Amino acid sequence: QLIYLDGDFVKKEDAKVSVYDHGFLYGDGVFEGIRAYNGNVFRLEEHLVRLYESAKSILLEIPYTIEEMTDVVKQTLRVNSLQSAYIRLIVSRGVGNLGIDPRSCKGASVIAIAEPLSLFPAELYETGIEIVSASSRRNRSDVLSPKTKSLNYLNNILVKIEANLAGVPEALMMNADGYVAEGSSDNIFIVKDNKLITPPGYIGALEGITRNAILEVAKERGYEAVEGVFTRHDVYVADEVFLTGTAAEVIGVVKVDGRVIGEGIPGKVTNDILEGFRSIVNNDGVK
Ligand code: PLP
Repeated sequence: QLIYLDGDFVKKEDAKVSVYDHGFLYGDGVFEGIRAYNGNVFRLEEHLVRLYESAKSILLEIPYTIEEMTDVVKQTLRVNSLQSAYIRLIVSRGVGNLGIDPRSCKGASVIAIAEPLSLFPAELYETGIEIVSASSRRNRSDVLSPKTKSLNYLNNILVKIEANLAGVPEALMMNADGYVAEGSSDNIFIVKDNKLITPPGYIGALEGITRNAILEVAKERGYEAVEGVFTRHDVYVADEVFLTGTAAEVIGVVKVDGRVIGEGIPGKVTNDILEGFRSIVNNDGVK
């Protein structure tokens, strides 16, 4: 496996960054998770726009143009002979001194990693998953926006740890006011009376690229699909619940905090949406 590291492809075991890198010292940097299906990088442009917007919001200058970054992604797939893969792009503030001041950093560091991935075992897409709600809260939108996909993922990690402690694959994150925001690394949809609802960005959800694709797929398939604010109660009494994300794709949720959702198996809307999503991923992207 070859990793892209600041202009070179290096072997995985040689792909190392300095302990003085502010991405390591302070979580000072941004990242993206992208997926390729059969040689087609799904919505690469949207991922790169989000990466550059995340960087802009933290005053981090990415040393490449979007076109150059597109090439980095494609080359990383090519040199690893990967047609279908998960791609991680990381831009860190780079190497500086021990102080927090980013002015000591000589320039941003760019890393791209591509590897085969499936987040959940295939059978979980058939059976659906159980989740719990976490006590950790989404950081407030008015401080560091959840739209900034930064290397500071501690609240998400705490949510994942709560899932682990409960013995389930994922947990639900509320915002400080108790409204449902998202999972540790995926967005949530509830379905009620054939209508799909997902929390708006200002509640504290990342405006996921999969989520946005699902809003389109749902409308194409004749469903009403909207952004809306809801609480855990609405999740408990939903007809169906599913999570979306680059890694998770579309996965049904069949139990939340012990409450069985619908019939306790992924519902027909979830399955329809998953089928719609799988049919677009091979076409909707960059070859
Ligand atoms: N929410 C968070 C916090 C994430 O990290 C991710 C993954 O990127 C998502 C949601 C899903 O977003 P996307 O569909 O763009 O992968």
